[in-house]
Amino acid sequence: MARKVLIVEDENNIAELLHLYLEKEGFETDVAGDGGKGVERFRAFRPDLVLLDIMLPVMDGWSVLKKIREEDNTPVIMLTAKGETDDKVSGLEMGADDYIVKPFEMKEVLARIHAVLRRFGVEEGGEEKKLSYDKLTVNLDSYELMVDGRRVDTPPKELELLYHLASAPNRVFTRNQLLDEVWGFDYFGDSRTVDVHIKRLREKLEGVSSQWSLKTVWGVGYKFEVTNS
Ligand code: CA
Repeated sequence: MARKVLIVEDENNIAELLHLYLEKEGFETDVAGDGGKGVERFRAFRPDLVLLDIMLPVMDGWSVLKKIREEDNTPVIMLTAKGETDDKVSGLEMGADDYIVKPFEMKEVLARIHAVLRRFGVEEGGEEKKLSYDKLTVNLDSYELMVDGRRVDTPPKELELLYHLASAPNRVFTRNQLLDEVWGFDYFGDSRTVDVHIKRLREKLEGVSSQWSLKTVWGVGYKFEVTNS
């Protein structure tokens, strides 16, 4: 079944390019040229993922994102203009799942779409839920954490949190995103829950490898940082 992507973009040539490229890659797409139509098409088309421009006529990308989030947690990738770093941060805080900076390469867009869909379990492809890095294996099938060749007992939520972060290396997640995506919307905790779990994970992982680490991004959240060395 083809995955559906809604493109909300007022620049015709960009929208057209995304539409053609994604259709060629096997996605079903729909295009909305302003924010109002974006919300309308979101409800009618029921996309698996939304590509959302920020500067839009009628209703801007932030307002569209808010409307979408009032209804469900369909993954949203924001399209931001170069240099709008504040937009990235506010986008993530407002519940966007990733962002792509314009001008972008179609290949990058495709890679981001696949990564986000995988994270949401929309795309599985039968692969096992196991991530491996230098001296680290996180297995979400057997719920096993292997650190430097040894099995380390880890509570399920810690393992799920680590898996979630490590499945999108170098991507910053806000605490609220992690709460929603790892604990679920109906969880009655606050962001300190995330901090506590990160702290416990760090105790298990600190100094194990120089190729990755759990990083705090001040004022935003956390990321699983991977350095190419
Ligand atoms: Ca625009």
